[in-house]
Amino acid sequence: MRSMKEQDPEVYHLIEHEKERQRNVLNMIPSENYVTEAVLTACGSVLNNKYSEGYPKGRYYQGHEFIDDVELLAIERAKKLFGAEHVNVQPYSGSPANMAVYHALLKPGDKIMGMRLDMGGHLTHGHNVNFSARYFTSTQYTVDPETELLDLDAIRRQAIKEKPKIIVSGATAYPRIIDFKAFHEIAEEIGAYSLADISHVSGLIAGKVHPSPFPFTDVVMTTTHKTLRGPRAAMLMCKKEDRLAKTEGMDEKQAAQEKDLARKIDRAVFPGLQGGPHDHIIAAKAVCFKEALQPEFKVYAHQIVKNAKALAEELLAQGLRLVTGGTDNHLILIDLTPKGIGLGKEGAIALENAGMCTNMNTVPYDKSTPFRPSGIRIGTPILTTRGMKESEMKQIGAWMGQILGDMKNTDLQQRVRQDVKTLCDQFPFY
Ligand SMILES: *Cc1c(COP(=O)(O)O)cnc(C)c1O
Repeated sequence: MRSMKEQDPEVYHLIEHEKERQRNVLNMIPSENYVTEAVLTACGSVLNNKYSEGYPKGRYYQGHEFIDDVELLAIERAKKLFGAEHVNVQPYSGSPANMAVYHALLKPGDKIMGMRLDMGGHLTHGHNVNFSARYFTSTQYTVDPETELLDLDAIRRQAIKEKPKIIVSGATAYPRIIDFKAFHEIAEEIGAYSLADISHVSGLIAGKVHPSPFPFTDVVMTTTHKTLRGPRAAMLMCKKEDRLAKTEGMDEKQAAQEKDLARKIDRAVFPGLQGGPHDHIIAAKAVCFKEALQPEFKVYAHQIVKNAKALAEELLAQGLRLVTGGTDNHLILIDLTPKGIGLGKEGAIALENAGMCTNMNTVPYDKSTPFRPSGIRIGTPILTTRGMKESEMKQIGAWMGQILGDMKNTDLQQRVRQDVKTLCDQFPFY
């Protein structure tokens, strides 16, 4: 960084400040993580300088003797990690990866069925302002108003009635196990494709602490920067064969292509949607997958969940209401409605003043608006990466309880901020 410090001190100092912030606050945004130096090194490598449109052994530019091996290594490791039949490591990020799936399998106007955003789903699962509902049609499922859990019977009835072409499972704000198998069976029953978007829980799946969507799901998408702890990007995994291919009237070659799901996904990513892949990020994915294949990663994934459960327990002891009453994964949704409707933003700001970084979020059937939601979303991936365990979670939960119980108390926020800094110093990173 020295040359950068001289050449561009403005950006240099901003990066240094951000590094300090990451060191000195408790980051609890469940979609974030702190990657290893090895992953960062790959991201900052000369692989940034290459153009490599196409796929290994079939590129449109010369000079691929090393780049091809990087991509093949990433693919091979991802297959091993998840047990996938086919892997594409080129997607730039989660949203374009989902777009590629729809591009591969749907025609404009076809129907997507996904979880409603304000229930915990993602924009790209058919939200009305998103491309997934502008260029396609969409039907959205909810959670049960009483239990706040996914109701697979209700989802099945909706699928039979609405006949979507693809059913998306997966969420950004759901604190419980997702039954990917049940989703796939519904898709099979109604002749739809199944897409499991495991962005949030892929690290937990790799670490064997959440059920896997393999081998049955047609297409699986994951971002690589959340619990998987890799670079900011995504990948697609799928079955080799398209079980819904219709080949009547086709010659042998056309029929073979129609049945080739892997080819459809690859062609949708490039040339269907993207140009040159980000080779430096693909190298960082390969590094991340190697890390995730180590026995230590399993320990990490288990500790993420143990920490989330310990934190949830303390938050409940502090008198806070949690959506579904707790957690099975890395994520907790605090519902502040009992303290007043629409307090999510105020709560998140109070916590930030006290050195705890979270995000405001809707809760299921929120009585307020998405701009003033009633919940706060937190998670344990970063705290766990830093080496914190159950006893630290208990302490953090107690601080959160105090701050959220007295949101306007700036003296308290300053005091807790000091204690947070002391805790962070005991768990250094970078
Ligand atoms: C994060 C996320 C995405 C989108 O990823 P981006 O890289 O931010 O585009 C898609 N789906 C789910 C479920 C996610 O959690």
